[in-house]
Amino acid sequence: LPGEMFGSARRNSAGCDLTDIAVREPLLRRLAELERRTWSAGQGGGTRSQIRAPFDHGHVVGEVTETTAAEIDAMLARASAAQGEWDALGGEARARLLDRAADLFEEHREEFYSLCIREAGKALPDAVLEVREAVDFLRYYAAEARRLAQPVRLPGPTGELNELRHHGRGVWTCISPWNFPLAIFTGPVAAALAAGNAAIAKPAEQTPLIGALAIRLMHEAGIPADVVHLALGDGKVGAALVAHRLTSGVAFTGSTAVARAINRSLAERNGPIIPLIAETGGQNAMIVDSSALPEQVTRDVVASAFQSAGQRCSALRVLFVQDDVADTMLTMIRGAMEALSIGDPRLPTTDVGPVIDADAKASLDAHIAELRAAGQIVVELPLPASNGSFVAPVIAELPSLASLKDEHFGPILHVIRWKSGELDKVIDQINATGFGLTLGLQSRIDTVAEHVAKRACVGNLYINRNQIGAVVESQPFGGEGLSGTGPKAGGPHYVARFATERVTCIDT
Ligand code: GLU
Repeated sequence: LPGEMFGSARRNSAGCDLTDIAVREPLLRRLAELERRTWSAGQGGGTRSQIRAPFDHGHVVGEVTETTAAEIDAMLARASAAQGEWDALGGEARARLLDRAADLFEEHREEFYSLCIREAGKALPDAVLEVREAVDFLRYYAAEARRLAQPVRLPGPTGELNELRHHGRGVWTCISPWNFPLAIFTGPVAAALAAGNAAIAKPAEQTPLIGALAIRLMHEAGIPADVVHLALGDGKVGAALVAHRLTSGVAFTGSTAVARAINRSLAERNGPIIPLIAETGGQNAMIVDSSALPEQVTRDVVASAFQSAGQRCSALRVLFVQDDVADTMLTMIRGAMEALSIGDPRLPTTDVGPVIDADAKASLDAHIAELRAAGQIVVELPLPASNGSFVAPVIAELPSLASLKDEHFGPILHVIRWKSGELDKVIDQINATGFGLTLGLQSRIDTVAEHVAKRACVGNLYINRNQIGAVVESQPFGGEGLSGTGPKAGGPHYVARFATERVTCIDT
């Protein structure tokens, strides 16, 4: 790696301390005011539709106008024409604009909190973390732009000067998911811009309003409107962007199936071979052995499986618990689950909000119905009365991992018991899923931790803690196999992958 190695003077965002009443009370009053605001995204000639809150389908958050095919053509042409000048501006100048965007995100954080709650159904603590992460991506990738702007001197014989430089590749299409509608929307766009590219940002169709505010603030920060664009709509708009001849890189976060479809579309294109950075799903496990601390397991399981209503790629889906402690652990986990408050995310007391929409609820409910028919549900919390898409947290006990084929993106935890002496069988089963995103381990035995770290094929291993909430620069995030291509978001190799490398050799 060129430049200074890992760890700068930069600090991650402090966010907002919700335990401080002097911070919380004015914030709640402001959020109550913002609840009446309606937002809009897109102003072209495409189809308009309303965005409704996941917690109450009668609550209108705003209106979105889909980007038309002609508008997509025009924005790619403008982005492509503007990219050379943006690249030529240099890493330092681009970094200053990204830092300015981070400052504006922080200044507008209450609006983002409000939108994360109303448009994405996030509980307030999750909304606070979301804005922090977006700000951290902007500032960290700005620091990376500065680092990568330094030419790298390479070895050679006397009389020869070898140098490597990074340049933008062109226009990156960045397609992001609804589950991190600000952080994962912002991260790839910031990385593309940092590396000297123009970018087209396509938010998930469920959360365009948050994306629109983010792009507006990037423009306000001074990033030229021709350099970063917002494209709005469903998968058809994403497919058109991917297939477009002026797209020169694709960064995608979402399902493994869509990543495959993008790969196929890129393979069929004529012209340059272009890269895909894909962050996809997981079938994340936690392994608990009999040396684990029950209180810690309880806290970490509940957070990993049910925070954000289980709608994180990193979330815990399968708890492997050693059989001699399983009954104790399950009793304690059930107790902690019963203390969770499920409901309207506008209430500051809510722990678990809704799932994103009626389709997500229908698919999760269908899986729960199958588990119920098989007699496998062991804990099921009551559903709140609502006009929204709620799925109450459940635990189901399975005989083995074989019956669990798909990722179920919600608050459903599967439990499997394992016997002493079978640790390797457990790790091998987890590896055999083909996913490799997060893994939790709860054990007080150092040699077990070392062994699991060597044998498990996962991107992020968390030992004796929860397995969600990777922090920018400290825990670069991303998986392998069916979970994605890498490089890791928030890590030291990420921005460089959006760039192209050019080497100059001079005979002096
Ligand atoms: N980085 C997030 C975390 O560690 C998960 C990202 C995702 O869900 O895509 O919780």
